[in-house]
Amino acid sequence: MSALKKGDLSPSEKELFEVITAGNVQEASRLLGCKDVRVNCLDEYGMTPLMHAAYKGKADMCKLLLQHGADVNCNEHEHGYTALMFAGLSGKTDITWMMLDAGAETDVVNSVGRTAAQMAAFVGQHDCVTVINNFFSRARLDYYTKPQGLEKEPKLPPKLAGPLHKVIMSTNLNPVKMVMLVKENPLLAEVEALDKCRRVMELICEKCIKQQDMNEVLAMKMHYISCVLGKCASFLKDREDKLDGLLKSLLKGRDSDGFPVYQEKFIRECIRKFPYCDATLLQQLVRSIAPVEIGNDPTALSVLTQAITGQVGFMDAEFCTTCGEKGAEKRCSICKMVIYCGQACQKMHWFTHKKVCKKLQEQREKQEAEAAKLRMQQNKEESKAVQDATDSMQELSVDTSSEVTPSNTAAETVTSDPASTPAAGN
Ligand SMILES: [Zn+2]
Ligand SMILES: [Zn+2]
Repeated sequence: MSALKKGDLSPSEKELFEVITAGNVQEASRLLGCKDVRVNCLDEYGMTPLMHAAYKGKADMCKLLLQHGADVNCNEHEHGYTALMFAGLSGKTDITWMMLDAGAETDVVNSVGRTAAQMAAFVGQHDCVTVINNFFSRARLDYYTKPQGLEKEPKLPPKLAGPLHKVIMSTNLNPVKMVMLVKENPLLAEVEALDKCRRVMELICEKCIKQQDMNEVLAMKMHYISCVLGKCASFLKDREDKLDGLLKSLLKGRDSDGFPVYQEKFIRECIRKFPYCDATLLQQLVRSIAPVEIGNDPTALSVLTQAITGQVGFMDAEFCTTCGEKGAEKRCSICKMVIYCGQACQKMHWFTHKKVCKKLQEQREKQEAEAAKLRMQQNKEESKAVQDATDSMQELSVDTSSEVTPSNTAAETVTSDPASTPAAGN
């Protein structure tokens, strides 16, 4: 196979770029079987077929190209863009994930020093930023499932890698959701297993800080997970009601307004316990949280979530009050002020929500009454404005009719046109 040169394409390769643009996967598959088609060939700008497919948001095509050995880290583009950067720009989270899963480097920068995450953020593709910032490959975790050096057994029993990876990949940092993930897996919900996972999390955290291209975001996430797992272990050890007790503690709202004080304090403590005091991210988080009185916005969870996943304004109505999952649609039928992803979450929350539900209902009814009053007032003003407008329209039509009649004024101007004068004077 000849060396790759920009724009040096065989006729079949040119055709491949065309069918990628058209989205014809079948034809692309046929062409990739041809002898004179190199999967990593470069067009005149140094773009590979994979970069084209990623940029155009064609997931099936990306999959096909990767299966044919497309190099996900090819960096011949004239401005240093990689396939991951193109995926981020396309706004497709599935393609972004596919590139990462195929081994795309996240810290490569383009010709103006921007990473794929920064580029995606720049064009407002925040979901892709979240995917990139939170990616941690299974292979990186599996490293700990093999004995290293003189170890007789690995730090992480292989059977725990799957469930732990699921916790790591979650972009929902609500501790309730994390405890639920632990609870649903009997292998993980066990003191010894949790202690092992916690230690691995702290090791990865340390690695993220000490590696050459420091990743404070991932380090903070690993540390936070370690704290949650530690809390799970201590409840399993000391409490009769085990993880249900922890869930209850995390959800319990204070009497005055239902604000979950324990959860807020727990997350603040996790952040404060981050072992690398010099980290910029830690200082930033502490600065954002320290002046906020407990119960006010922003909550520690929202600050942490924004720092780690890049999600802004995530306390919006569409997030489950209990577990923080996105896309919640079921409202409490009484107060209609809280929203859940399902009945299980509503049930779990009721023990504490019932204390404020009535109060919230009254609050909403008062707000609605006020809004209705305001609307009525606005309607009145509007109808008055419409009346005024109609009146002035009528006046206007009277005015115009009086203006239309003297059409002879226009005729006069034509006759007195100076251009006609010289001819007449001749
Ligand atoms: Zn939920
Ligand atoms: Zn309610």
